[in-house]
Amino acid sequence: MTAYDPDNIFAKILRGEIPATRVYEDEETLAFMDIMPRSDGHLLVIPKTPCRNVLDASPAQLAAVMTSVQKLARAVRIAFGADGVTIQQFNEAAGGQEVFHLHFHVLPRQEGVSLRPPGKMGDFDEIAKHADQIRSALKQD
Ligand code: 5GP
Repeated sequence: MTAYDPDNIFAKILRGEIPATRVYEDEETLAFMDIMPRSDGHLLVIPKTPCRNVLDASPAQLAAVMTSVQKLARAVRIAFGADGVTIQQFNEAAGGQEVFHLHFHVLPRQEGVSLRPPGKMGDFDEIAKHADQIRSALKQD
């Protein structure tokens, strides 16, 4: 498998070299808003240590990320009164992966509302508002 590239965009976010709207972090993981949200509140959860995806992640990285995924899934349900939560994860280009640092998508869902198509930049103010809603919900945890 291709080696981990330390210059991928999420590694740059982790190092603070490019901005991100952060909603949660602990020692091992970071959660931030997706810039092309496919539903209101779409966020990404990543480990702070390097791995490309599920195929090279250690059990400890997976355990830490899934713990945070669950925390954020519960938070978005509260924040958006969501009827459900979609969790997506892609491995290698053929599997749909575009950024090669392990990440899980957390997408709050409403009954009967489809995901928006991928690849469309979100509105910055809207994303900031949704991030605030998620941070508030996390405080209720
Ligand atoms: P995937 O690798 O799972 O197919 O998709 C990568 C995801 O990262 C996409 O949903 C895309 O919108 C998001 N993304 C790509 N570049 C950036 C960025 O610079 N900042 C943020 N916050 N999200 C990004």
